[in-house]
Amino acid sequence: MIGIVVVSHSLRLAQAAVDLAVEMVGVNGPDIAIAAGAGEGVIGTDAFKVAEAIAEVASPEGVLVMMDLGSAVMSAEMALEFSDDPDLPVRLSSGPFVEGLMAAVVRAAGGATLDEVEREARGALRAKQSHLGDEDPADLPADSGPAAEHAIEVTLPNPDGLHARPVSMLVTALSAFEATVTVANLRTGRPPVPANSPTALLTVDARKGDTISVAAAGRQAVEALEAVSDLVGKGFGELGAASARAPEPALSLSQPQAQPSSGAPSSGAPSSGPLGVSPGLAVGPIVRMPETLDEPGPAAALPVSAREAAAERIVAAASSVARALRDKAARVSGAARGILEATALMAADPGLIDAAVSRVTGQGHTPERAVWAAVGEVTAAFTAQGGLLAERIPDLHDVRNRIVSELLGRPAPGLPDRVEPYVLVARDLAPADTALIDPTVCRAIVTVEGGPTSHTAILARALGLPAVVAARDAMDLPEGSVVIVDGTTGEIVVNPSDDQVARAEEQHSRVITFDGTGQTRDGHRVQLLANVASPDSVAAAIEAKAEGVGLFRTEFCFLDHAEAPGLDEQVAAYRQVFAGFPGKKVTIRTLDAGADKPLAFVTAADEVNPALGIRGYRTAWQRPELLDTQLQAIAAAAAAENADVGVMAPMIATVDESVDFAARCAAHGLHNVGVMIETPAAAITAGPILERVDFASLGTNDLAQYTMAADRLMGELALLNDPWQPAVLRMIREACQAGLAAGKPVGVCGEAAADPMLSAILVGLGATSLSMSPRALGGVAEFLRGVTVTQCRDAAIAAVAAGSAGAARSAAALLLDPAPD
Ligand code: PEP
Ligand code: MG
Repeated sequence: MIGIVVVSHSLRLAQAAVDLAVEMVGVNGPDIAIAAGAGEGVIGTDAFKVAEAIAEVASPEGVLVMMDLGSAVMSAEMALEFSDDPDLPVRLSSGPFVEGLMAAVVRAAGGATLDEVEREARGALRAKQSHLGDEDPADLPADSGPAAEHAIEVTLPNPDGLHARPVSMLVTALSAFEATVTVANLRTGRPPVPANSPTALLTVDARKGDTISVAAAGRQAVEALEAVSDLVGKGFGELGAASARAPEPALSLSQPQAQPSSGAPSSGAPSSGPLGVSPGLAVGPIVRMPETLDEPGPAAALPVSAREAAAERIVAAASSVARALRDKAARVSGAARGILEATALMAADPGLIDAAVSRVTGQGHTPERAVWAAVGEVTAAFTAQGGLLAERIPDLHDVRNRIVSELLGRPAPGLPDRVEPYVLVARDLAPADTALIDPTVCRAIVTVEGGPTSHTAILARALGLPAVVAARDAMDLPEGSVVIVDGTTGEIVVNPSDDQVARAEEQHSRVITFDGTGQTRDGHRVQLLANVASPDSVAAAIEAKAEGVGLFRTEFCFLDHAEAPGLDEQVAAYRQVFAGFPGKKVTIRTLDAGADKPLAFVTAADEVNPALGIRGYRTAWQRPELLDTQLQAIAAAAAAENADVGVMAPMIATVDESVDFAARCAAHGLHNVGVMIETPAAAITAGPILERVDFASLGTNDLAQYTMAADRLMGELALLNDPWQPAVLRMIREACQAGLAAGKPVGVCGEAAADPMLSAILVGLGATSLSMSPRALGGVAEFLRGVTVTQCRDAAIAAVAAGSAGAARSAAALLLDPAPD
């Protein structure tokens, strides 16, 4: 960095000018020495003092001398003659004393050469002249560098716009990048100026609310623009508490006035509200799923005289439940019929009924309490037996809940038993409930709980059903009333007009298809893959022309198992999936049990904080044999089929786990090994992790949950659990950049990939593949075909730099306007 000498008649004047300049750069500025006054308290200049000052800040890059007037110039010239270092480059500046000094200090702080700093100081009056309309056109910066490769537009939020301090922050920040950056103010329409020149930047005359266009070229153009976005997003640190809460600076491209509404608040405390999580429109009458049943408490013993009648009620309720189940069985076929018939037999089981009845007649239990307790005894016996009997426990509980509901006069629990179309409204849905939904009659799902990454959302997308979560008052919607559910915006229209219904139905029937090749408009390839939750859903992925499977969630095959699945059962399940994609990529994930996906045979029921507990890969710490059997099954299935199999571990948090997983896979002959990046720890150590494995896949559902410290199942936190949150986008960027640096693929298999506009951001951040529910492929493919990869990158920069999820969406929407033909 060059040194700077300040020569002045007055020490106070010099000191004040230096203070002003240093204020701009803080501790990062150049060395500055003052030569002022002709003696103690005497106004004047002294050549010897100037020579000493030059020697004090001498640096191989040179020294610039700024002078006030008259004899200051002569003293400086004389000082050059005293110099005992003839090779030291020293330049006397003709620039204005205050403005020139400031410009020189800022530019020198950015590492500019003596020539560049000197030129900057000389032109330092330009801003004032431009402001007063007094400039000489010959002085305008002629060359703003090579043609821009990337550009963004940002709106200035800080009270005084681009004044001296923000200018200095910009120049200093940009000096760190190998990029040529220019800035133009769209309000004035004047030509762009180089962003490495503080004086030129000051001529931009950018005030609060002005939108400036920032363009960059060079190896680090993208990083430079990110730095600008970052500074602007933070209002150059000049937003006070009040303005920080005000709507943040909108990042925009060509139509700053046309900010689209994101449908969500752009800043401040997240307010929960209905959120569309599975796109599409549907119309139908509401059917509410009954609330879960609480265990009936022990009431006072029934009087002996009432016991007989109470016991008869149990017999009647059990027989009514058994009859309803048999009727239901008669309406279906295949496996479902068998299950329902078996459940009906359980409901009519004389042993169970007798046990309950004797609790009423002997101990005076209420009928519902007696049924609950009797089933509890059978459950304990089944658990002790284990094996197939233990697997029947959920059915036993289903029977119990049905009989108790019947006794209490409440609707039967579980999914509504309907053959006509309906919209399902529930407080929450367990994965098992959602998996049983028949999409030919259930038109849409609305839940009170759940977030965009909850399994309600995931499975609704897999079923192609519009879904809205976090609809706080949904359970108050009148049963039977017709609603339109918009799974994109989260809107629920109760009792819509005929016109509204007609429009919704017309949109509902519109299907976007995928041609099997994911790419942007300019041919940047992005593999579009399917997420598959069971062998049965492979058909949908093939039909949707997925390029392969990016995530096969193996745990969903075993949700109803009381004991770990055996080797053969697993081989059969995996082969079915591999067989669907001969020659194509299929990425299988090892068991991700725990938290939102508890598996009876591995998940402890008493964890205080399951999302932070023994889940995902951690289950292998305690049950390594489960992982080994699974890897053995995957290897056998892969050998028997032709798919290009990759295997990855969920919920990795450390490099050691990655090393351990890769070694275990290698021991089973599995070589295309990856990990899921679902924790902030994995995202920020993606570099070292990728040194140990072949690929990574971003599980944005959990990554959002852990980055934002927000339970993905809680409707109230849905706005935090949003992959558009800039903090989540930064995590994704971290991992993608590590992938680019290592030359290894980093894909996304969380639900973020299924959001068409967000898919473009992920591509812009460097994701190499996107995996989603098959039904989302058409929409994502269509969106990507409409934009260029440069648009994706520019939008990614803007989204990452935004201050909120809403602002990120708005910025992306403007930058991702389909490119004109
Ligand atoms: C994720 O967390 O994004 C993911 C793909 O895994 P799951 O949703 O199954 O936890
Ligand atoms: Mg996950």
